[in-house]
Formats: sequence, C-alpha cells, structure tokens
Amino acid sequence: MKIATAFHDIAYGVRTMTANVFFPSMCLLCKQPMDATHSAVCAACFNRLQMITSPYCARCSQPFPYEMEWAEEPCDACQREQPIFDAARAIWHYDTESKHLIQKLKYADHTHLAPYLGRVLRGQGATLLEQGALLAPVPLHPKRLLHRRYNQAMLLAREVSRTTPHMKLIPELLQRTRHTSPQTTLSQAERKKNVAGVFRVNPSYKRAVQGERIIMIDDVMTTGSTLNACAAALKESGAAWVGVLTLAKRCMESDMYEGWEWE
Ligand SMILES: [Zn+2]
Ligand SMILES: [Zn+2]
Repeated sequence: MKIATAFHDIAYGVRTMTANVFFPSMCLLCKQPMDATHSAVCAACFNRLQMITSPYCARCSQPFPYEMEWAEEPCDACQREQPIFDAARAIWHYDTESKHLIQKLKYADHTHLAPYLGRVLRGQGATLLEQGALLAPVPLHPKRLLHRRYNQAMLLAREVSRTTPHMKLIPELLQRTRHTSPQTTLSQAERKKNVAGVFRVNPSYKRAVQGERIIMIDDVMTTGSTLNACAAALKESGAAWVGVLTLAKRCMESDMYEGWEWE
C-alpha cells in the first residue's frame, strides 16, 4: 500500500507539472482560452455548475424546495432511513456539467484539476470542515489504484488538508477489504449490498479514531451506500462523529421523494 501511495505521489506531481506547462489557461469544459490561470474552468462554465445552496438537509445535503421550520430537520429520505454518517455537504448537483468536470479528474488523468477542486471543497465546505479533526479519503481497492494510478478522493483530501491546519489527514485511515464491481450500473439496494462490510479502519489507526470527529472526502455521493459503509466502519471503531464532504451529489427532485429508485 505504501509503494502504491508513493507511486501515486510521483505520478501526480509529473502530471500536474506537465499540465501546467502545456495547458496553462484553457477552460477544461469549453476549451476556450481564459485569463484566470489559477482556475480550471472559465467563469461562464463555472456559472453553469449548479451549486447546492441553503436550505438543504444537514444530514445528506439534499436541497429543500423551501425553508424548513427547523433548521436541523432531515429530508424525507433521511427520515425514512437515517444515514450512518452524521452530516454531509456536497457542493454541486451531480448533473451533466459537474459529471463532465469530475470525470476528467477521475478517468481522464486530469489530476492537475485537484488543486482547483480542492479549493472549491475547502471554500464551500468550510462550515462542515470546522467540525472535524481527522480527514480521510474514501479508498480505492489496491487493484483499482494500480490500474488508475491515483485515487481522486485522495488528491482532493490532500488539497483540502493544505488549508485546514486544524485537521490531520490520514490517507490510509480506511481500507477496502475486497474488490467490488463498479457501483454505477447498480440499483440502490444492489449498491448497498455490494459495499456492505467492504471497508475497515486500518488496524494501525484503530486507536486514532476512537472518540474522534472524522470527515470523509469523495468526489460524488449518489445513493450514499459507499459513504455509509465507510461511516459504519469508522463508528464500529469508536469514531464519535462522521461527516462527508463531496464535490457533487445526485439530488432528488422534490416531487420524486416518494418511492424513488436510482437508475
Ligand atoms: Zn468554459
Ligand atoms: Zn437528507
């Protein structure tokens, strides 16, 4: 695992340098030249990314169509089945635009996007981040890590940790105990079954998580099955509170609350 992490660090550094040299100021989404050299997308594309704004469910980040009577009131889905994690903040709706951007980081080797996306997470997730003490990326199975050469959640967590000195990043806090088939084509029930018991707290950090407030970082929350399975492992090891910070969330339309099923 340590070798894989070192390899990942070197690959990330080289890719970031290469990208900065060859693609200094082109919007990644519309490919138009832009002035802002420290951004990855132009202002027009950024504005097309649909941000999740207040009011939203504090538990899962599902936006509410109107202000709730009690600020802490959970959404219908959370009332039906409480997430195992305690709080969540997702920045964008997971739609065509944000999917395009995130997939570039995840599958297309655009690892130089990480500093930009990390800044977005840090800025928009500030209130949640203030509540945590440890930071942990959702892990990939070592087999998939070797294939992809980097874990996008790890890149994001590292960027967030650069500007959150009150938090300690533990890159290998969570581990996958077995390889699972990709979640993308599965129903909500299948997803839950697919990841049940797949994660564990790295035995080296069992003591570190006891009584701690931990924030997990990932790129997207769809049904929340993976994040719930991770939260279960953390809570079983004695974590006091678990938060979730992701770039995007697949949100439900307010009239779809009843009897919903993903894909
Ligand atoms: Zn653009
Ligand atoms: Zn909710």
